[in-house]
Amino acid sequence: MRDYVLEVSEHRETFDAVVIGSGPNGLSAAVALAQAGASVLVLEAADEIGGGTRTAELTLPGFHHDVCSAVHTTGILSPFFRSLPLAQHGLEWILPRASVAHPLDDQPAVMMWHSVEETSAGLGADASSYRDLVSPFLDDPEGFFADALGPLGWPEHPLSFTRFGLRALWPATTFANWRFQQSRAKALFAGCAGHSVLPLSKLFTAALGLIFSIAAHVEPWPVAAGGSAAIPRALGSLLRQLGGQIRTGVRVRSAADLPEARVYLFDTSPDQLASIAEPVLPGGYLRRLRRYRYGPGAFKLDWALDGPIPWRDPSCLEASTVHLGGGLDEIAAGEAKVFHGEHPSRPYVLLCQQSQLDPSRAPAGKQTGYAYCHVPGGSTVDMTEAIESQVERFAPGFKERILARHKMNTRDFHEYNPNFVGGAVTGGVADVFQLFTRPVARLDPYTTPNPRVFICSASTPPGGGVHGMCGYHAARSALKRIERFEPRALV
Ligand SMILES: Cc1cc2nc3c(=O)[nH]c(=O)nc-3n(C[C@H](O)[C@H](O)[C@H](O)COP(=O)(O)OP(=O)(O)OC[C@H]3O[C@@H](n4cnc5c(N)ncnc54)[C@H](O)[C@@H]3O)c2cc1C
Repeated sequence: MRDYVLEVSEHRETFDAVVIGSGPNGLSAAVALAQAGASVLVLEAADEIGGGTRTAELTLPGFHHDVCSAVHTTGILSPFFRSLPLAQHGLEWILPRASVAHPLDDQPAVMMWHSVEETSAGLGADASSYRDLVSPFLDDPEGFFADALGPLGWPEHPLSFTRFGLRALWPATTFANWRFQQSRAKALFAGCAGHSVLPLSKLFTAALGLIFSIAAHVEPWPVAAGGSAAIPRALGSLLRQLGGQIRTGVRVRSAADLPEARVYLFDTSPDQLASIAEPVLPGGYLRRLRRYRYGPGAFKLDWALDGPIPWRDPSCLEASTVHLGGGLDEIAAGEAKVFHGEHPSRPYVLLCQQSQLDPSRAPAGKQTGYAYCHVPGGSTVDMTEAIESQVERFAPGFKERILARHKMNTRDFHEYNPNFVGGAVTGGVADVFQLFTRPVARLDPYTTPNPRVFICSASTPPGGGVHGMCGYHAARSALKRIERFEPRALV
C-alpha cells in the first residue's frame, strides 16, 4: 500500500480520511486506514472517545460502571481485534468461569460453562442435543467467527456456515422447542437469543442464540479489566501510534464542518448520515436512510452494592452475565410485548456483575451491579421496580444490598450518544429485512451513492456489539477507492 501524503497548507488541514465518531467501529475504521498508510482524523462529539464503550463513576466514588457495553463476547472473538496488539495498549480481557447463569424459580440455575461437557451435564435429557448443536462449530471457531462477523457474501468456510445458516434462520422459539425437550435448555437458549432485541418468534432469532452459545465455549464472555473504556483507550492509543489524530468535543452537524479529505467514514446512525451528508447524497438514498428502523430501546440500572448479589443459587456468582426472565415462554412473551410497544411487568433482564471478576471496579468488600431490560423505542417509563423485582425473585434480599443506583431511560441514552436513536442499543432492528441490508440494500453496504462517503457504524453488517468489524469492513471498502480522489471539501 502506498503512503498517502498528508498535505497541510498554510490555512487548511487535509487528510486522507476523516472518521465521524469514535465508537469501537469508528476507531477500528481509523486504525485499519492508518495501518494502510492513510492520514486519519477522528472527530468525536463527546469529551471522551469510546461511544458505547465508556466507564464512569455513575453512583458513588470508587464504583466504576460500564455506561453501555459490559461483556464482550464478540470483542474477544473479533477477527480484527485479534489481529491488533491491543494488549500492548493496555487491553486485558478477564474471563469468567461461566459465561451465563440462568436462574429458574424452582430448580438450580442453568449454567453455560466454558466446557461443553460441564454445560451439557446441567441439561438433563438435552445434554447430547446441546453437545451436538455446538460441538461442530468448535473445530475451527476462528473460521466460523470470520464468516459470522463478515458482511453477507460467499463464506470462506461454506460447510460450517451452511450448517449454521440452516439452524440460524429459524425463530428461536421454534428452534428451541424442536431441538430441546426440557425447560432448562430451552431457557438457556432463549436467554441468549433475547440479545437480538426481537420477538423470539421472528425468523433468524435462533442465530444469536447459536452464536452466543458457540462463543461461550470458545472464549467465556469476558469483561475488560478496569472497565469497557479500556477498549477504545487501547484502539485510540494504537491509532495515535500509527500517526492518526483524534479530536473530542467536536459535534459534526453539517458537511461544512468537515475538513478536506479524500474519503469520509460515518460512525453514526443512518439518520445523522442523512442530515450531515444531505447535500451530497441523492434523494432516493436519503429517503431509505430515513426509513431505517431502530426498534426497541433499553432502560438500564447501575447499582453500588454492599456485597455480592445474594443469588438463591450461588453458582450464579461465577458468571459474567445473568439472564433473568424465567423460561422460554415467559422471555418470548415479554420480548414480543416490548416490540409491540408494551412494558412487561416481568421483563427479560440482562444483568452483569463485573466487579465479581474485576475487583478494581468497586471499593474493597463492595460490588457493582449492572442490569437493563428492553423497552419500546422512546419509552420514558421507569422500569426500576420491574427490574429489581426480577433480581429479587432469584436473589431474595438483593434490594437491601443497594447503596445507590443510577438510572438511564431511552431518552438519556439518545442524549448520551446520538447513535442510540430512541434508546436503541444495537444500531437498529436486525430482523430478516434489515440484518444484511443495513442501512440500505447495496452490494457493498458500507458505500453510499457518493463514492467519497461511507458508513461504518453498528447500523451496517454485522451489526451491534463491540467487535469493530463494521469499521474494519468499511475501511476496506474505502481503501479500494481512496486513491481515486484528491483531498477536498465534501461540499
Ligand atoms: C445499554 C447498552 C448495553 C450494551 N451492552 C453491550 C455489551 O455488553 N456488549 C457489546 O458488545 N455491546 C453492547 N452494547 C452495544 C455496543 O455498545 C454498540 O453496538 C457499539 O458501541 C456500537 O459501536 P459504534 O462504533 O457503531 O457506535 P457507538 O459506540 O455508538 O459510537 C458512536 C460515536 O460517534 C459519536 N458521534 C455520533 N454522531 C456524531 C457526530 N455527528 N459528530 C461527532 N461524533 C458523533 C458518538 O458520540 C459516539 O461516541 C450495548 C449498548 C448499550 C446502549
